[in-house]
Order: sequence, then structure tokens, then C-alpha cells
Amino acid sequence: PTILAIESSCDETSAAIIKNGKVLNNIIATQSVHKKYGGVVPELASRAHQQNIVPVVQEALDAAGITKKDLDAIAFTRGPGLLGALLVGTSFAKSMAMGLDIPLIEVNHMQAHILAHFIDQPHPRFPFLCLTVSGGHTQIVLVKDYLEMEVIGETQDDAVGEAFDKSAKLLDLPYPGGPLIDKYAQNGNPEAFVFPDTEMPGLNFSFSGIKTAFLYFLRDNKAKDPKFVENNMEDICASLQYSLIRMLMQKLKRASNETGIREIAIAGGVSANSGLRHELQRLAGERQRHIYIPDFQYCTDNAGMIAMAAHYKYLNKEFSPLDVSPMARMKM
Ligand code: ATP
Ligand code: MG
Ligand code: FE
Repeated sequence: PTILAIESSCDETSAAIIKNGKVLNNIIATQSVHKKYGGVVPELASRAHQQNIVPVVQEALDAAGITKKDLDAIAFTRGPGLLGALLVGTSFAKSMAMGLDIPLIEVNHMQAHILAHFIDQPHPRFPFLCLTVSGGHTQIVLVKDYLEMEVIGETQDDAVGEAFDKSAKLLDLPYPGGPLIDKYAQNGNPEAFVFPDTEMPGLNFSFSGIKTAFLYFLRDNKAKDPKFVENNMEDICASLQYSLIRMLMQKLKRASNETGIREIAIAGGVSANSGLRHELQRLAGERQRHIYIPDFQYCTDNAGMIAMAAHYKYLNKEFSPLDVSPMARMKM
């Protein structure tokens, strides 16, 4: 089957074409309007999706060398995400499916982040563990099959991507700050400053404590030295990143030990982080674990992953009615 997939859950408008399980392209329009506000403004996101969606879809069709008549189904992100943003992709997909009289396929965004692993080789083998780390989620997922997943641990408050972005904001870095912290961290000393871990039971996480600790750390040091941040940016970022990644790795290792599963993947925007990628490579060296890290373009939001999820749903004939509505919160 040839499927068009649309992603519009947050601040990326994206379209991709998948043909017989092969993702042919992955067109992404990143919205820049949010930069000056230090975070995504939902209403602006929704308007930008409206502007971007037609050209982005056309570009995906053109890049694949096909027209809309060649499509067998239309897929879209139903949730979780920003409701106004999701509405744009959902409405567009629904009208296109209706106009072409072909099936409509709803996709869960978090499931799709994980299924991004099946776009390129090598594929993880079932069952595998996936640490899904993004702007809105921090989960350890037990993946039993393409469409059979169970969350076995998750954050009880902030997502780790949020911790990166909010900390970056405290350092006066532009949104999204995660990639910038990563950049500065690469030349810093991760042991220059110590931030306390928040101990959580089982496989759960908490990232609100470290965010508060970081706020006070900056306040106290800036009181002593107004140039503290300026003079220590690299060490601050390296130390903060080290703490955040350590908290993730502890739970991921525990999950692997407890379940005996040695196939381990990461997904979501924070899986682009070089510190996390490095720590995972180290984990691969221990106990014959196999580690899977997605290509950069499939870490943050993209329609390629939505297309991959849609392909498996198409094979299962899991189609959606035309009156389906988006869901800001949506369980896997
Ligand atoms: P969700 O998928 O939970 O709905 P989202 O779609 O906003 O949330 P993604 O687009 O998957 O999240 O990821 C964006 C997040 O990834 C942001 O918090 C961003 O700072 C973070 N991020 C991206 N690259 C890096 C990096 N190199 N280091 C740390 N964080 C990063
Ligand atoms: Mg985004
Ligand atoms: Fe996402």
C-alpha cells in the first residue's frame, strides 16, 4: 500500500509517503514563530499548521513522484498533543480520505516515536524495551509487537525534555534549549557541579526536583558572581546533562535487569542527545545487550514515524471512522 501520513501534534508540520513499508520521504516544516516566546504557543502553532499543511503535503507527494490518486490510505496523528494543532492534521486527513474515498488511519504519536525504529535497519527484535524521552513524555515501554506496547515506568511530573528546556530558559538560551545544552555540554566538565538525583520507586521518574535545585543553584551563584553563567556555561550544561542522563540510565538498566530483556531502544526528541547516545553505547558493551538508536531526523517529531505506524495498522485493517476526533491526552 501507498500511504500519506501527516503529523501536527506540536510545532512541526510534517508529511511523509510510505510505500510497501518503505518510507520514501519525510518533509518537515519547523515553526519558528515560537522562539521569541520561549515555548510553544498553542494558538500560533495551530495557525502555522494551517499555513504549512498544503505545501508540505504537496512536497511529499512530489518528492515521491506520485499524485493523490496513487494513495491507498491517509494517516494522521490523533494524539497526544496540542488539541488545536492536532485538529488541523485531523481535519485535513479526514477531508482528504473522504474526497478520495480511501481509508483513514489514526496513529498514536507515542507509539509512532517507538515504531520509528522500523524505518531503517537494523530493527529491534520483540520483545524490546524502549526509553521514550521527549518534550512531553518520559516512559519505559515494553514493546511486545508492532502495535502491542505496555508502559512499565514513567515520569510522575515533568518530562525530561521539559527539564532540558526549562533549565535552558533559566540560562537565557532560546527555545528549544535541549539541543543547546547538549552543544555546550560537549566541551564542559560533567563533574564540575553536582545536582542531586530524585529517587523514585520502581521504574518511575521525577524531574521537577532537579529543575528547582537548578533554579536555586543559579540564583545563589549569580548572587556571588554576576558573570557566573557566562563564565561557566559549558561546565554548567555538562553537569546538568550528566545528572539528567544518569537518572534515565539508572531506570533503564533496572528495567533491563528486572525483565531480562537485552534489546534496548530509545525514541523521542531527547534521544538526539549526544550524552544519552554515548551512555547507551556503553550499555551495549555490557551483558550482550543490543542497542537501537534512531537516525536524527526520526528522533524529534516527524511524519515518517507516523507513516511507519500507519503501515502496520493498514496491514491489520485498523481503520478509523470519518467522525474521529483528536485527543490531547491519549493512552498507548
Ligand atoms: P511529545 O512527543 O511528548 O508529544 P514533543 O513532540 O514536543 O513531545 P519531540 O519533538 O519528540 O517532543 O522532542 C522535543 C524535545 O526534545 C524538546 O524538549 C527538545 O529540547 C528535546 N531535544 C531535542 N534534541 C535534544 C538534544 N540534543 N538534547 C536534549 N534534548 C533535546
Ligand atoms: Mg517539536
Ligand atoms: Fe513527539
